Amino acid sequence: MKNENFKLSELPYERITIESFEKETTEILKEFNAAQSGEEQFSVHKKYYGVMGKITTAMILAGMRHDGNVSDEFYEKENEYYDEISPKIESFQVKYQKLLFDSNYRTYFENKIGKVPFKDIEIKLKAFADVLIPLKQEENILTSRYNKLIAQIKVEFKGETLNLSLLGKYLKSKDRTIRMEAAKVRSEKLLTIVDELDDIFDKLVANRNAQAKAMKYDNYVELGYYNMKRNSYDKNDVKAFRNQVKEVLVPVASQIHEARRKRLALEKLDFVDEGVYFLEGNPIPIGTADDIFTAGKTMYSELSSETKEFFNFMLQHELFDILGRPNKAAGGYMEMLMLYKAPIIFANFNGTSGDVDVMTHECGHAFQGYLTRNDEIVEHNNITNETAEVHSMSMEFFTGKWMDLFFGSRGDDYQKMHLEDAIAFIPYGCMIDEFQEIIYTKPELTPDERREVWKQLEKEYKPHLAFEDDEFFSEGRTWQLQKHVYNWPFYYIDYCLAQTCALQFKMIMDEDYKEAWQKYLAFCLESATDYFPVMLQNVGLKSPFADGFMKGLVEKIKL
Ligand code: ZN
Repeated sequence: MKNENFKLSELPYERITIESFEKETTEILKEFNAAQSGEEQFSVHKKYYGVMGKITTAMILAGMRHDGNVSDEFYEKENEYYDEISPKIESFQVKYQKLLFDSNYRTYFENKIGKVPFKDIEIKLKAFADVLIPLKQEENILTSRYNKLIAQIKVEFKGETLNLSLLGKYLKSKDRTIRMEAAKVRSEKLLTIVDELDDIFDKLVANRNAQAKAMKYDNYVELGYYNMKRNSYDKNDVKAFRNQVKEVLVPVASQIHEARRKRLALEKLDFVDEGVYFLEGNPIPIGTADDIFTAGKTMYSELSSETKEFFNFMLQHELFDILGRPNKAAGGYMEMLMLYKAPIIFANFNGTSGDVDVMTHECGHAFQGYLTRNDEIVEHNNITNETAEVHSMSMEFFTGKWMDLFFGSRGDDYQKMHLEDAIAFIPYGCMIDEFQEIIYTKPELTPDERREVWKQLEKEYKPHLAFEDDEFFSEGRTWQLQKHVYNWPFYYIDYCLAQTCALQFKMIMDEDYKEAWQKYLAFCLESATDYFPVMLQNVGLKSPFADGFMKGLVEKIKL
């Protein structure tokens, strides 16, 4: 911690045992109860920050090193250990938060840490009770089964054995015949596992419904919202948002798809064409991973003094683990090492435009974490997902004018592709959300009936889409590849809400880049100090839940 020149790869790691954790936390609970004033209790609260910061830092380090080399047995064991003890950690947190909630010095705390954390505790208590533990354990087993099933899919294509993510390159090939062949082998493979995909989901719905019943809720929708820590909007707000998308945004997305169909010289836009934006193929970054970092450094130095300082910090401490390697887990993410006040970024560079997305999207998350790392009130970091995704998805637009550095003469193509993709994503995301709401409201539906629900939604949200006799995708199964549906119910709408805010920043920056940046900085600095719609309002942005919001947004979009 005191070492100013630490490097991520050299950080010491030591297991935090549940015994030492429980010893420290028992002491904290005792001291908290014995405290005689708000000040005294707050100094105990800081010890709570300390013990949680220590264990989460250890867990993140172990997790990231395991992801960095999944065949490393040491970190595999460490990870398994934390999986096993994490319910006990959660149980302590709930116990502690209950004390805080009922503290005699509540007013003192509200002045010190704000009112939002108390609302969050209220929601946490609605979302969790010990009675759920066995069901949650079963839920974890089911989601792991799904993740493993998907991760193990291998197809033979053009003499190579490929997993789904590597096949992705061919699914986006500029050569339509290759795309169709790749989609065909994928669907053939997927058709061999449909029964298992259905079975896992059927059990997950039953399990989650049982969790809702155990907590005395009508169905899982309410519990799912508590799990997502929704502290400032409910399912009616989300429904109204989705209706605005259907009425106003879907026609705009259809125009975009139609323009693309013409650009690609196709008779109709089939699902195999969805990932392709230009006849000559999608832009790909030029040069090596080092070149991407050099470009990133130039970009962030020029963008602002804050981003310059941030990116230099990331480079100085080597806080990226982004090169693709055998034995490295898939995916990309950003985490915050509280003990070192350092954001870290994990990814798998593979030579596609996704590599640049890491530089913009994940760096958006990391930049916000860096900006606010010295805030002594740790609750301010409990940022809900829709807010966090505004930080990252907006950064994707703020970096737009530097895209020539990454894509050479095709920088403008990348920006066009990115904007079209950003808009077309929103109807898809809303469809995923509405699907889940229907499924959990009617848990009795059979797998076949669920597919009918999906097919109906596709007509509403993606009317342009055709499926050239594909047995998997035309049969209402697209959602079965969307891992959020299995792993994190109701998460998906967060990306849609955030995207509309990122688009608002885009509109402002088209007029006045500096002004947009100042607003963005102010929004990042708000962290989670207030509720999402209020924080937006504070910096002059509109809430996506406001009446007529989508119409106003669409009128200003320059395509
Ligand atoms: Zn993100």
